[in-house]
Parts: sequence; structure tokens; C-alpha cells
Amino acid sequence: MTQKNSQTLAWQAMSRDHHLAPFSDVKQLAEKGPRIITSAKGVYLWDSEGNKILDGMAGLWCVAVGYGRDELADVAAQQMKELPYYNLFFQTAHPPALELAKAISDVAPAGMSHVFFTGSGSEGNDTVLRMVRHYWAIQGKPSKKVIIGRINGYHGSTVAGAGLGGMSGMHQQAGQIPDIVHIPQPYWFGEGGDMSEADFGVWAAEQLEKKILEVGEENVAAFIAEPIQGAGGVIIPPSTYWPKVKEILAKYDILFVADEVICGFGRTGEWFGSDYYDLKPDLMTIAKGLTSGYIPMGGVIVRDKVAKVISEGGDFNHGFTYSGHPVAAAVGLENLRILRDEKIIEQVHADTAPYLQQRLRELADHPLVGEVRGLGMLGAIELVKDKATRARYEGKGVGMICRQHCFDNGLIMRAVGDTMIIAPPLVISRAEIDELVEKARKCLDLTYQAIQQA
Ligand SMILES: *Cc1c(COP(=O)(O)O)cnc(C)c1O
Repeated sequence: MTQKNSQTLAWQAMSRDHHLAPFSDVKQLAEKGPRIITSAKGVYLWDSEGNKILDGMAGLWCVAVGYGRDELADVAAQQMKELPYYNLFFQTAHPPALELAKAISDVAPAGMSHVFFTGSGSEGNDTVLRMVRHYWAIQGKPSKKVIIGRINGYHGSTVAGAGLGGMSGMHQQAGQIPDIVHIPQPYWFGEGGDMSEADFGVWAAEQLEKKILEVGEENVAAFIAEPIQGAGGVIIPPSTYWPKVKEILAKYDILFVADEVICGFGRTGEWFGSDYYDLKPDLMTIAKGLTSGYIPMGGVIVRDKVAKVISEGGDFNHGFTYSGHPVAAAVGLENLRILRDEKIIEQVHADTAPYLQQRLRELADHPLVGEVRGLGMLGAIELVKDKATRARYEGKGVGMICRQHCFDNGLIMRAVGDTMIIAPPLVISRAEIDELVEKARKCLDLTYQAIQQA
């Protein structure tokens, strides 16, 4: 182990003595100290030790246009000078929020032309919960309150976000709020057993209908789902899943919420995951790629029929001090301009995503790899003991071992259990994809050696 420089040690002491970190093993963090990221450009990060790291996760799925885009910094500075803050409460508005609402509706699926702004994806899903219940109450159906989510879905970390999500660890620590229920996820590799992928997709979709009937249609407000589960492990549903879900949704009078916080703004090679799967949702939660993570912002895109009911319902007793913050909105607008003018999503669709997917799948021959799956700028590598039975190395923490090797070799991949996942910036080039895949293979080799020796 090389000696850390004194500045790194000073920052790590501040971490230990003063900072409570989100989503971290805080005990381990206090012992090892965090890696300190100090600067970034394109798809690369630099840490306080001078290491250059390829960011295979685009931060937390968000840095769509890559790091270091001066245009985003410039519009933020300009907006701070012009109007650093005003709010959207009590019959006021400001140009950046209105222009961004219009710009979002221009790229949103047809018939979804209204936006409610929040400060994050979690707040977006809190808004969803209140909005869908309000929607039914206005129409004289206050019993329609229950929201159906999915086990291992992720919808953020506010109390409503964690409740809508299906992460058991979060439920255990936070408690659960009433009138939210969960159905199984369409995770064939992990849970499909002996079923074919196609049959399992239909089975998982049918769990929605089963739940609607169990709870009673008259009590169900909405179904919420990510088009592709991100934090759950880049779970790409079997091709039979969404068509069957759509068929079920068409039979019942409930709203459908697509959580597009990860899939939105180009990650699938379409503007939204709902475009990719032709989902026709009633509401879409957005955040992350909306501003490429340069500044916090989220929101909910609302179908016109829902917006009409809400807007005729009088007071909507909901909003955030920073809803549609002018600086965030200015950055969002410029980010959308970059995505559009530089044809970044077209390039993902036609060139770099197919290339990434082709190259990633070369890793399937590795002895540790049970499956490589992916779509657009999303990928997952399943680490297994037995390729045929999909059995894991139980209790070895193979995913964390692999993640550490990645860190040590200049690549960020995330581990979800024993699933390695990637979601690089949308602007990643072919040469950078080559580098990513080569580094990933090297880290798989190192992980494999480590567990053979253990
Ligand atoms: C990240 C995420 C959220 C939460 O967004 P925050 O901005 O962290 O509150 C919600 N839904 C999905 C699908 C996400 O990936």
C-alpha cells in the first residue's frame, strides 16, 4: 500500500470526524476513509491521489453529457446573476421553469405535456404518491389509495420513495407507510428457476393482475415501476413482460407511473424508457439525466388527462421551496439543448450503445460470468459459481471483491450483490468503451483468481 498524501489524509479525517455518509457501510468507511474525487472531465474522474478513473456509472447514473461541460456552468452563473431564486408558489413563476416545462414536453411522449418540478427523484415520487391519490379523490373515488410497487424496485430514499420502492433493507430501517403493496420483480436470472424467460415474464406480469384483484380495483390508485430496474441490478425484463403488463393495465381503471429517473433522457437510446417499450404511462418521474447531475432537479411529467383533473381540483397542497429552482431549470434547459443539438441520443441509439452491448457480451465466456445483459447505455454482469445452474458463490462477497479490483484498476463498476452493473455517460466513445471492457475483463480475472485462492 502506497502512502497517501497529507491532503487526502486530512480530508479523510474530516470524513471520519464530521461527515455522516449516505448509503455506506459507515463502520467500514470510518476505518478505510473514502476515496476523494477531486475533478472530472468527459468520462474520467481524478482522485486526490492523482489516479485517473473511468466512470462506468456516470456518477449515480446521472452525468449524461459527461463531466466538464462549461456551457452548463456558464448558464448557471448567468442565471444566478439574473435571478438566483424565486419560487413557483402562490400564482408566481419565472422564465427558466416555464421554458424547461415546455422543452421537456417537446421531447416527452405524445399527450404528456405538463411538468411538476421537484428537487430530486425521491421528491418526484413523493409528488406521485400525493398526485395520484388526489387525482382519484377529486373524482369522488377517495378509496383508490393503494399504490402497487415491485420488490427490489428503487424509487428513492424519502419516506414515500423508500415505501414505493421494494428494498427490504430500507423498509426495515424506516418502517413502512400504509397503502403501498409490492409484487415480484421480473428478474429471470435471479428468480426464474426452471421457467423459460418468456414464461417467467408472463408470470411476473400476471402478479400485477393478481394483486389488483386481491386489493380490489376500487382501492388501487396506481402501479409504479421502472422501465428497467436500475439500483436493483439493471434488470431487463423478459420481452414478454411489458406487453402483458400493458394488457393488464388496459383492463383496469388505475394509473400507471413509469419511474424514468434512470431511463429518462436517453439512457436506452430513446428519450425515455417508455418510448423504448411503448409503455404509455400516465405519469413519469424524472431527475438524474434531466440536468446531467450538474445540479439537483427532478419532476413528474403528467399526462394531459391527469393534469386536467388536477388543474380543475382547486388547491393542490404540495410543493417544494426549490420546485423548478431557476438555476437548476437553466441548467436543465441547456442540458436538453446539448442532448438535442449534439444528437447524443441518436448517436447512442445508432452507434455507441450497439457497440457497448456487443463488446460487453464478449465477457460472457469468462468462467465467472453467468450472464451479460444490457440495453442502451446500461449493462449487467452476473457473477456465478456455476454457469449452467446460475448458482452463486454464497457468502463470499464476490461482487464487492470485484468492485474493489475495479476501483484499484481505474474503473468504476457498481456491485449489487453479485451483479456488476454499468451505466456510463451517454457520450462515451468507442475507444473508451474498449477501455471499459478491457478493464472489466482484467478485474473479472483478478476476482476469479482471488476466489480460487480463498
Ligand atoms: C435515483 C433514483 C430515484 C431517486 O432519485 P434521487 O434524486 O436520489 O432522490 C428514484 N427513482 C429511480 C429509478 C432512481 O434511480
